[in-house]
Amino acid sequence: MKCSVYDWENSKGFFMPMDDLIGRMAAINIRETFHMETAKCFAIIARTELARRLKIYGGHGCEKHPGYVLCTEPGHCLEFGLPNINVSESIMQAIKDTKNLIITFDEKPIKAYYHYRCGGSTENSENVIGSRITYLRKVFCDYCEGYEDEDKEKFFTLEDLERLLNVKIERPKDVYYNIKGIFENMDIDDQGRIKSLDIGGKSFKGTEIMEKLGLNSTRFNYMPVRFLISCIGTGHGLGLCITGTEEMARRGMDYREILNYYYTGIKIEEMELPEENKPLKGKVIVLDPASGKGDIYEGVSIKGLREGDVNLDIAKEIEKLLREAGARVYLTRTDKDHVHLCDRADIANKVKPDFFISICQSTFPNQSASGTEAYYYREDNEAAKLGNIILDGLCQQLQCRNRGLRIADFYMLKEVKCSTLQINLLYMTNPEDESKLADPDRRRKAAEAIAQGIISYYEQKGK
Ligand SMILES: [Zn+2]
Ligand SMILES: [Zn+2]
Repeated sequence: MKCSVYDWENSKGFFMPMDDLIGRMAAINIRETFHMETAKCFAIIARTELARRLKIYGGHGCEKHPGYVLCTEPGHCLEFGLPNINVSESIMQAIKDTKNLIITFDEKPIKAYYHYRCGGSTENSENVIGSRITYLRKVFCDYCEGYEDEDKEKFFTLEDLERLLNVKIERPKDVYYNIKGIFENMDIDDQGRIKSLDIGGKSFKGTEIMEKLGLNSTRFNYMPVRFLISCIGTGHGLGLCITGTEEMARRGMDYREILNYYYTGIKIEEMELPEENKPLKGKVIVLDPASGKGDIYEGVSIKGLREGDVNLDIAKEIEKLLREAGARVYLTRTDKDHVHLCDRADIANKVKPDFFISICQSTFPNQSASGTEAYYYREDNEAAKLGNIILDGLCQQLQCRNRGLRIADFYMLKEVKCSTLQINLLYMTNPEDESKLADPDRRRKAAEAIAQGIISYYEQKGK
């Protein structure tokens, strides 16, 4: 599967295989020396982030550059953009070993936060990003203990603080005061010379301090102007702790245990197949094989072919094809017995489908009437669009006359609360049509034409 990427530097889009993207995204966080299970965690995290952006999961891709799954602008879709970095063998192996796996919560890919080292426990999401996310709960993590962070201590002067925080700090006016435990009990003469001072609990003469500290005189004062700020852990503390992950991996835990430890209540599961293979993903269709055993209006041919049977056979074939295309499909009946109109409408209104399609055959006193027609309820423009697409395909497959799309106010068209189409495939009463309906191969072709019509309709609508 390929993803569309917006190349920010060159202002143009390109396609990149999903696995290459995952490799580059994972490589940003994975050092050469890292354990294989850590690499697997990051392969899954990167894949989850891409999945989260796909339409198939309700994602919108890059919000700054619409139409692309992600952009290479640093700080937008990815913190450091998408640098052209070397993807190591171990990362490529990790991608293979975790093929299609993503982290989900409530059947949706999660936003998999991570940080370098939590320093004892991770954070609840509300304390960092202000909103409660069920899978981002505080967990204790002693796995990252004992690891030294780089740059964990930093010195700041009062000037640094003023500049970085954009504040004004009053300098102490007193020239001498106690700083408990450090400078205490200053004894000073009339000229301002220090006679004695306790430093760190020990008493020193002024001259002694001058000598030992190499000061110019015993007339001195002091003030705190430089601070050491020391941190525990590195990063916001949300989600997965990279240092802890590495330690867990070294202790023999696998990626599933690690991801489940840091992300609360998640599932690790296979990603849905790419959209191009499931054009009807998320669509609900009700198929209505009209008539059936016990229906006094059922069409029966001279040779004894029953309309209800033909409709059911075709509907079941359409059902199979639509399911393969990713749709959820319901039938108003699955056996030969007739189901009353009201009950069929009820089934549809309970399911609330995107489309309701009745499969029917026509009958007429005069044998010469033949061909295909379809009906929709007035102003149901979507049904009209789908109707035309299906009629074209059907007439081609069945090599029959296209009798056209018509407005009608049949009970089902009126009572079912969604776009509704009734397709009358052929005439049971016409000998040529009847022989086509009796042929299982033709029936299968008719079903294919209808299923393909539905797929084409949604593809056109999606554009
Ligand atoms: Zn972006
Ligand atoms: Zn940790």
